[in-house]
Amino acid sequence: MATLLVVEDERDIRDLLRRYLERAGHSVLTAATGAEGLRHIESDAPDLVLLDLGLPDIDGLDLLERAHSLHIAVIALTARSTVEDRIRGLERGADDYVTKPFSPQEVVLRVAAVLGRGGRSAEVGTLRFGNGRLHIDEQAHTALLDGQALELTPTEWGLLTTLASRPGRAFSRGELVNRVRGYEFAGYERTVDSHVKNLRRKLGDDDATVVETVLGIGYRFGWQRDA
Ligand code: CA
Repeated sequence: MATLLVVEDERDIRDLLRRYLERAGHSVLTAATGAEGLRHIESDAPDLVLLDLGLPDIDGLDLLERAHSLHIAVIALTARSTVEDRIRGLERGADDYVTKPFSPQEVVLRVAAVLGRGGRSAEVGTLRFGNGRLHIDEQAHTALLDGQALELTPTEWGLLTTLASRPGRAFSRGELVNRVRGYEFAGYERTVDSHVKNLRRKLGDDDATVVETVLGIGYRFGWQRDA
């Protein structure tokens, strides 16, 4: 059972989410304002926050950033559905997104998915990809390609493990910067491309099928995890 925090100023949605999430076996805290949500985030250490980005008192993105800095998983609830807003939210550390109107069953499933992958820290553990061609052992800090150890810089290692933590999921450059470096650094976004280029070279990924380019956004890991 996980402790979840629902920050949502609309009472109907708040109550609906609480009902469904409690029925799914979670312990649920609720907050109707950003200030209240912030207090819960800082004192109750929830496992995951369902966060409405449109709050009356605090910009939801600021709350998102605070939760992210405390390594608390966040699923953003938003009426904003443009690509730019999605990317902005993901860059600030959201683990997933649900656009209103949503079905409460969908939210329950997404909560289970985010909790199942260990929240936002997205530890990949020892994983195999590409029918055994690539082994990533996060604890040993090693990556083997076709049995050969890859000599990766810390940035390349961070890029690889971040992308491989969610195969098929597009990461924006800004998000990669945040996840790899842990902080925002103006100008660094432009250098993501050259790190990716080096990583691809080491992976023998000439045709960019391991680290795929997502036009207008960034990159995603193209190989599936082995069963
Ligand atoms: Ca709202």
